[in-house]
Amino acid sequence: MGNYTITVLAGDGIGPEVTDQAVRVLDAVAKRFGHTFTYHKRLVGVAAIEAEGDSISEATLELCQKSDAILFGAVGGLPNYDGRFKVKPEEALFKLRKGLQFFANLRPVKPLDSLLNASPLKAEIVKGTDLLVVRELTGGLYYGHLEPPVPGKPSAIRRTEHGTDAIDTLLYTEAEIERILRIAFDAARDRKKKVTSVDKANVLSSSVLWRQVADRVAADYPDIAFEHILVDACAMHLIRRPSNFDVIVTENLFGDILTDEASVLAGSMGMLPSASLGSHKTVHGRLGLYEPIHGSAPDITGQGKANPIAAILSAAMLLQYSLGLKDEASAVEAAVAQTIEAGYRTEDLASTGARTVNTEEMGQKIATTL
Ligand code: ATP
Ligand code: MG
Repeated sequence: MGNYTITVLAGDGIGPEVTDQAVRVLDAVAKRFGHTFTYHKRLVGVAAIEAEGDSISEATLELCQKSDAILFGAVGGLPNYDGRFKVKPEEALFKLRKGLQFFANLRPVKPLDSLLNASPLKAEIVKGTDLLVVRELTGGLYYGHLEPPVPGKPSAIRRTEHGTDAIDTLLYTEAEIERILRIAFDAARDRKKKVTSVDKANVLSSSVLWRQVADRVAADYPDIAFEHILVDACAMHLIRRPSNFDVIVTENLFGDILTDEASVLAGSMGMLPSASLGSHKTVHGRLGLYEPIHGSAPDITGQGKANPIAAILSAAMLLQYSLGLKDEASAVEAAVAQTIEAGYRTEDLASTGARTVNTEEMGQKIATTL
């Protein structure tokens, strides 16, 4: 029975609709397990720009740092707002990730049995898949530049006597590799006890270092099965035998590509949660930012069509990783699975179930199943 503070940044578009349902489910968890969750709801994205002049205020950033966890909806993507402000709503996410140093992005993919036919792959291939991609988020190619970046321009496009060329730098330090590997191995201990490290060590120096560090970290986890795999082979195996994976850990660019590929297995964007973790520890665990992988979906905003399950499963990850409440997280996952098994579906998955419900009804159903 604990007291926890959660900063809630619902944001734009369907962000508030799905976040409301995640909070509803957290309230049901508090009631069933006897916890107290105190929510600090703050503006982020377009609403914050309109009211406070910035995509996320300094005060909100400070509050996030002091909380036990951050529940995030979505920002930006609203067509009639783009270009109206000097500040971009999407900057809020970068400020949060950078300011709080969230270097690890976790995306679990666990297609439910009754949704197997929602994936473009054959059901017998997807069946049994339960994997977690751990992606390095603050290093690698996306952050390596030879010259200081010029605002609004790619940093290393150069004119030479032979024409134009462009350079990106792929740099990883041993410490950056080690900390992401440790997140992956720690996560595997609570799962199927297997880690697959993905690299391109037959070509890239950064991958050779990655492999060395991975082998060294693996030695500290004798209870975890460990393998290396090249990124091109991994891309193939993900759709050939996804159920063989447990934890996949990789650098920024490879992780970006592989997480999008893996997400297709679950059948809908509306089903997939994520966590971003850093080194900042709280009393109960690691400070983290929890959000659905989908965006603000302006095309369906305000129509009750949004699937809140990605947000609800993000709240389950919050319980597990930041509050250290594993039983509670499992209870939320079980309630989601039961509700889907009972045939309830939001519109994105309507063709696979018997009863179509709106966003709020889906949240209520899951909360009462808990
Ligand atoms: P962003 O750039 O913010 O990631 P995006 O361009 O990837 O946004 P999304 O907002 O994620 O786009 O939406 C992509 C498509 O998926 C849209 O058609 C949207 O309606 C649908 N979609 C996204 N999230 C959900 C959800 N929770 N439930 C139902 N449909 C969704
Ligand atoms: Mg997107």
